[in-house]
Amino acid sequence: MSTSIEPLRGVHDILPSQIATWQLLESTTREVFAAYGYEEMRVPIIEQTSLFKRSIGDFTDIVEKEMFSFVDQGEDHITLRPEATAGIARAVISNGLLRAGRLKLWCMGAMFRRERPQAGRYRQFHQIDAEAFGFAGPDIDAEMILLSARLLKRLGLSGTKLHLNSLGTPESRAVYRERLLEYFTAHESRLDEDSRRRLHGNPLRILDSKHPETQHIVAGAPHLGESLDPQSRDHFEALCGHLRAAGIEYHVDHRLVRGLDYYTRTVFEWITDSLGAQSTVCAGGRYDGLVAQLGGAATPGIGWAMGQERIVMLLEKLGRPADADSPHVYLIMSGERAEKMGFELAERLRDERPALKLLCNMGGGNFKAQFKRADKSGAKYALVLGDDELGRGAAGLKDLRDGRTQEDCPFERLGERLGVLLGLDAANTGKS
Ligand code: ATP
Ligand code: MG
Repeated sequence: MSTSIEPLRGVHDILPSQIATWQLLESTTREVFAAYGYEEMRVPIIEQTSLFKRSIGDFTDIVEKEMFSFVDQGEDHITLRPEATAGIARAVISNGLLRAGRLKLWCMGAMFRRERPQAGRYRQFHQIDAEAFGFAGPDIDAEMILLSARLLKRLGLSGTKLHLNSLGTPESRAVYRERLLEYFTAHESRLDEDSRRRLHGNPLRILDSKHPETQHIVAGAPHLGESLDPQSRDHFEALCGHLRAAGIEYHVDHRLVRGLDYYTRTVFEWITDSLGAQSTVCAGGRYDGLVAQLGGAATPGIGWAMGQERIVMLLEKLGRPADADSPHVYLIMSGERAEKMGFELAERLRDERPALKLLCNMGGGNFKAQFKRADKSGAKYALVLGDDELGRGAAGLKDLRDGRTQEDCPFERLGERLGVLLGLDAANTGKS
């Protein structure tokens, strides 16, 4: 016997028993984005490695140690996308979409980071992403946050808290960088190894450190808010005003810097206290320099990403959504003729009622065995086809929930009868 092949570390299967929760998240996402006029787009899972290096930045966890990168047979340097913003920014430039001026986009899919796997932190995970290009004012920052708030609310996750900060412009950040450098240099010997390495490259990264001792030192570091330029301050205050007007509670957190280099001005995170250490369920910010940095015309941008696994964990804590996937009807067939006729009948019913969920018995078995499978399937009705029924030109229709009611229904009336019983519309044939 050969040994079995295990999945890669930090990579998970999403099983049929979990799919209802994932589908609830995905369908709610589609509805909420449609309600705000955002358009879906899909970008590649693989991109040139240089795209992520140039946008996410050196001295970040992602670029320093988390990317799945390889050189392919044609000597191309390729990376599995660790996040979506860089790919979307690349795509709007490559496809000339910015000529339209303004874009409101969203996408959903798998991301890859070689992190240490733990609950809520995986090597393949999924994100919902929102991005807006071409809007410079604080109104879009507010809309982006409102959109994420509504999605969380629609999912019943109103317990998450909004943390907000402004990183200012690259110029005001440079001033802050000098102050930080001075402060951290004074505490250099107590910093962890990563932070010491980042001290001269990008000391802001140290604020984002998850190392306990470093976090102590970070607690005493100067605030970014004190170095903010007046325009960034106005932008931030206007955003806070919009949020207050919309009734969104927020907490200004001067330590919030985010783990990617491309952010400018607004940054935010939605944080829950029900998931232990992996507490951020959604995070984002403004990236006014990114498009130009990737070779496009200077265009402001803002976006966020929500971790789907973490949201699914929260939804599962609330209890699984009602399983909508049980079949309506289980077709029981006994005898060779009935089995042949069964396929024809099933296909005709699917033509007549496209929303009908019909499970055909496969692999034979006597009536008793087939009824057992029908019960197990969760179907509401069993449709019975045997020699007797074929002789009468009618199928037996049994209500499996009350276990008693049974009626005979002529084959040609079955679609209509099931439509009435299950509240299913007839197929749209184009005839009125
Ligand atoms: P963290 O500080 O937790 O590492 P991050 O700042 O690296 O997060 P982002 O790049 O902002 O995360 O990604 C946005 C969201 O995607 C996170 O808030 C989280 O919900 C989710 N996410 C990020 N990395 C992972 C991962 N490895 N596994 C599962 N979800 C993740
Ligand atoms: Mg991370």
